[in-house]
This record gives sequence, structure tokens and C-alpha cells, in this order.
Amino acid sequence: MLFPTSNLPVQKLHDDLFDEKQVCLSVLRLDTIHAVVSGNKLFKLHYFLQDALQQSSEGIFTFGGAYSNHLVATAYACREAGLKSVAIVRGEQPSLFSPTLLACREYGMQLHFIPRGEYTRKDHPDFLQIIQLQYPRFLMIPEGGYHPWGAAGAALIMELVPDQTTHICCAVGTATTASGLLLGLKQNQHVIAVPVLKNLYDVKDRITFLTNRSFSLEKLTILADYHFGGYAKKTQELIDSMNQLYQKHKLPTDFVYTGKMMFAIIDSIRKDFFPKGSKIICLHTGGLQGNLSLKAGVLIF
Ligand SMILES: *Cc1c(COP(=O)(O)O)cnc(C)c1O
Repeated sequence: MLFPTSNLPVQKLHDDLFDEKQVCLSVLRLDTIHAVVSGNKLFKLHYFLQDALQQSSEGIFTFGGAYSNHLVATAYACREAGLKSVAIVRGEQPSLFSPTLLACREYGMQLHFIPRGEYTRKDHPDFLQIIQLQYPRFLMIPEGGYHPWGAAGAALIMELVPDQTTHICCAVGTATTASGLLLGLKQNQHVIAVPVLKNLYDVKDRITFLTNRSFSLEKLTILADYHFGGYAKKTQELIDSMNQLYQKHKLPTDFVYTGKMMFAIIDSIRKDFFPKGSKIICLHTGGLQGNLSLKAGVLIF
């Protein structure tokens, strides 16, 4: 690993609800790895970085939108590894850069904007070949790290999860992180995946592609009803619950990923989804800088 992962805090939450339902709920604070870079993203990059260094690649190129946590993580990790980085960014070059793109640039990432229409072809072999010709000695990483290597890297997160854990919960974007958890799962453990996009019906197929295996319902539950209207959409109920989490537990969450995941898990505890005696770990995957796009005062933290 290019960054320290030992001694990351596991924060136990105390609440009358959890006592009443006889479950334990803790949060593995991957967000504490770095203030800007989402914790899970660095794990997903691990094997790509290792390969780029072994092959003596000049750098890495990857894909994302102007608010992509994956782009910042790649920019940061490449700088730490002494590699160059190039982002193929969806859309024309804006006159004002998003905080995300500014951070990418600060970490030395070269930003290569392409129109949205063209960007949709990003997974087409002809398109990739054109990019690869421009950056011949660069290793390609798919958008969001959506690749079996990304899942293998995310599996390293399981080394940080205490053995007695029965349920490991995470937010789902590309499903690469959830796939990694499944790859590293021990007997009697179960993954709870919370999609933050609407109509993400293909989570199972994604997991099969990423892990080259299929997992039974015994190992995986997908809580599909907590997207709050779709990706980066929010409701007052979500914002209130995030403020409450902070007030009660000093736990900051982001409204795109971890706020929705925590809401889903606590709601499921309330609805008796978890058997008595469950030891639940929620992954705080980071993403807190995404809250910068909210108006001041919406969140109490
Ligand atoms: C990207 C991201 C996720 C989702 O991870 P996937 O591997 O794409 O499913 C969850 N939380 C945060 C904070 C992220 O940035």
C-alpha cells in the first residue's frame, strides 16, 4: 500500500435503538486516510499502481466527470507513486473548474476534456486505442476503477474489518468496492450493499464481472430503496438524518454516498432486518468534500 492503513479508527456508535434491537453498529473510518481522497478509491487503485510501477509505465490515464472522486484519488495516488496522471474528463473545458478538478490539477494531473457525445464511446476499443496512442506508455484504468483489479484492491479493505463482524455495509456506485468486500468475506459474514443511483438493476451482473463468481443471497443483500431520487439527489429527510448522526455520534457523512448508506442501515435496524447479536460494520468511504456543493448552513458540520 502506498498509504498507511493500520490503526484506522473503528468508531462504535451508541444508541438506545441498537441496545433495544441487540445489535452493535460500528463505522470503519476509511475517510480518515485523507481529507480529500475517498478511502475506498485508493484501495481500488492498488493493483493498477503496482502494475504501472512494475511495467515502468510513465503514468496512468483514466476517466471521469468534473466531480469524480475517482479522478482526485488517481491524481493523488499517482503523485505519491511518482507516476504521471492524465484524466479524460467528460464535457468541454469549463471556464470555472470544480473543486474536484482543481484538486486534480494541484496533484499534477493533466486534464483532457472531451465532449459528452464522444465520452459515451469511452469503453469502445477504437476510442481507447486513439487515447492510448496519445499516451503510449500509460496504463489505462476504467472509469471508477470498474475492473476486476479494482475489486481485488478493494478486497484489501477486509483485512481491516474485525473478525467477529457479521455484516459489512457499503454504498454502491460502480459496485467495485462491494465486490471487493465479497472477495474478502469470511464464513458467516454478509455484505449489505446500498446503491446510491436510481435504477441500478445490474448490481449482481456487475459483481459477477468484477469477481468472476456469483454470490448467493446468503452472502449479499442489496438495499435498493435508499437512493433518495438518484445519484447526488437529496431530500430534507436525508439531510436531517445526516445532521442527527453528527449530533449524536460526531460522525460526518456525505450526501452522495455515506449519508444514504448510514440512513439505510439504521432504518433496516429499526425494521428488524438484522438478527439479534449482529455485529455490523459500515464502511465510511469518505467523499466528504462533496458536501462543499451544499449551501452553507444546510449541514451542522
Ligand atoms: C466512489 C465512492 C463509493 C462507491 O464505490 P464503488 O466502488 O464505485 O461502488 C462510495 N463512497 C464514496 C465516498 C465514493 O467516493
